[in-house]
Amino acid sequence: MSDSSRQAIENLSTEDRVFPPSDEFAVQANAKSGIHEQAEDDWLGFWEQQARNRITWFKEPTEVLDDSNPPFFKWFKDGELNVTYNCLDRHLDTQGDKVAYHWIGEPGDTRTFTYRELYEEVNRFANGLVELGVKKGDRVAIYMGMIPELSIAMLACARIGAPHSVVFGGFSSDALADRIQDAEAKVVITQDGAWRRGSVVPLKVNADVSAAQSPTIEHVVVVKRTDSEVTMTEGRDVWYHDLVDGRSTEFEPAVMNAEDLLYILYTSGTTGKPKGIVHTQAGYLTGVTTTHSYVFDIKPDDVYWCAADIGWVTGHSYIVYGPLANGTTGVMYEGAPDWPGKDRLWQIIEDYQVTIFYTAPTAIRAFMKWGDEFPAGHNLTSLRVLGTVGEPINPEAWMWYHEHIGGGDRPIVDTWWQTETGAIMITPLPGAVPTKPGSATFSFPGIAADVVDEEGNTVPLGGGGFLVIRRPWPSMLRTIYGDPDRYVQTYWSRMEGVYFPGDGAKRDEDGYFWLLGRVDDVMLIAGHNISTTEVESALVSHRAVAEAAVVGRKDELTGQAIAAFVTLRAGEIGDDKLLHELRDHVASSIGPIAKPKSIVFTDDLPKTRSGKIMRRLLKDISEERQLGDVTTLANADVVQALASMSQTATDDE
Ligand code: ATP
Ligand code: MG
Repeated sequence: MSDSSRQAIENLSTEDRVFPPSDEFAVQANAKSGIHEQAEDDWLGFWEQQARNRITWFKEPTEVLDDSNPPFFKWFKDGELNVTYNCLDRHLDTQGDKVAYHWIGEPGDTRTFTYRELYEEVNRFANGLVELGVKKGDRVAIYMGMIPELSIAMLACARIGAPHSVVFGGFSSDALADRIQDAEAKVVITQDGAWRRGSVVPLKVNADVSAAQSPTIEHVVVVKRTDSEVTMTEGRDVWYHDLVDGRSTEFEPAVMNAEDLLYILYTSGTTGKPKGIVHTQAGYLTGVTTTHSYVFDIKPDDVYWCAADIGWVTGHSYIVYGPLANGTTGVMYEGAPDWPGKDRLWQIIEDYQVTIFYTAPTAIRAFMKWGDEFPAGHNLTSLRVLGTVGEPINPEAWMWYHEHIGGGDRPIVDTWWQTETGAIMITPLPGAVPTKPGSATFSFPGIAADVVDEEGNTVPLGGGGFLVIRRPWPSMLRTIYGDPDRYVQTYWSRMEGVYFPGDGAKRDEDGYFWLLGRVDDVMLIAGHNISTTEVESALVSHRAVAEAAVVGRKDELTGQAIAAFVTLRAGEIGDDKLLHELRDHVASSIGPIAKPKSIVFTDDLPKTRSGKIMRRLLKDISEERQLGDVTTLANADVVQALASMSQTATDDE
């Protein structure tokens, strides 16, 4: 990518639809218009004020940002606190009986935890972990499904000051072993099995395999969930219920320095080997509480549902730490969105009168594919804010969400951020920013995102290039665990003095940000840099299409040619006629240069376990290469099927 002809990304699509906040919403919003300008006037002051107002400190910090050794920034560095004191203890007097979590099991069982009950359970488990020898600074791996004990385990670790490393329960034993070994974890917390679409995922069996390869593991703690047969290794393994039984419900929270490690979390691995992202205490808590409050417009009586898995950063920041510190009532669901029926989520929203719902574009595209009748069968009028995260949202998917879930008038917040950023970075504020379908709109107050060319110069409005963040921010990653050089190399070396997230973006004439996918996926077509996102969105804007992925494959004529992989909506047929129609549709909506050379119809696309499309595998398939790293791939069978199909892909020019 050093070739200077490739310094910017083409801007092909335009969007005219604008949805301003209603007056009713705007007057009651937590974030009012003007907040961006106020924060920009004194960005350090803005973050300082958030940290002082939102955190209960054991010792107030005297300094906001230490930037003496970039890119190893420190925030609030002489402050002292415990994150769980902020999530639990401080709510007891004012709202101990308020529900912290409404939990719904996949088989239909439910549990409810008030703030007081959560506090007591966290303390019991913290006492149990200490009994097993867990001390401040020890790393604890957590390999679980979406059950309340997952959140409890994280909080118990944070209370002790033992950094956790949550590994998504859909990962294999190898992936778990890699992550345990990288963090040198002492304990792994798991469960006998996890429910997924009516069957049991054998988490304990996997954890046994991983533990056997990991000499640092001293204990395995097992929550009973599915009553599956498991082998308990004498002296090493202990049942969660035995460990917490009879323990004190009091546990003095460890006094943590603002910059002590809170957790390690590996990125979802879309582009290759996952990175162990390090987050610390106070800056992270400042970032997640501030964004949670302003972006979702959280009020005391909201019923808030982030439908991500806690195994990803979205769940860490917006199921556990942000909402609990803000004293919010949350919904937590264990299972699959289509189990037992394709309306499971809509049923839950109706049952619990959910007011705020946060999900991923991949899920929205699945809902579109399944059909409109599923949400239509439920009363979703309790909803007042909708959110998305994880990938660029295609404008048509945004419109579908707006109409079919949002009743045509609820604000949608398309939030751009990463495991590395810890908290939302580019996003609408629902009462203050008019939205455009497919745009993440503007930097969050206090954040300085920009779009630059290869030399780091700001690209004028209307153009595309590399997304960068120009200043440090409180919830930023501090390093890659055990690999500070990789931290500097990956994020801070591409351009002098700015953070480089690896994504492309453009800004329109009004200054709105549009995320354009990964910089590494950008296609070079006849001398033009074309983003995957715009071509995919053009395909998705056709009525027959639910989801699309494109890659640039080697082509003798044009350097690269666009190869498209398309999933149709229920009832549509991928024949030759549709193929031609789609190619013409792309040409007429964003230009002939973006016309896919080949289109393969497929029922599914290769995705990471967090549901993101893995374009690098599609590129391997298109170029008939050996597949790259597939450890984070969720659906290996699709790749096999595609590999045989793409040889016969139509190529009519
Ligand atoms: P790896 O870094 O290992 O390849 P990953 O990038 O998929 O994995 P995450 O941290 O889960 O791991 O994902 C962050 C990325 O997701 C962002 O860099 C961006 O590419 C994409 N993303 C997240 N939210 C949005 C959004 N609202 N719009 C566009 N892209 C988004
Ligand atoms: Mg990434």
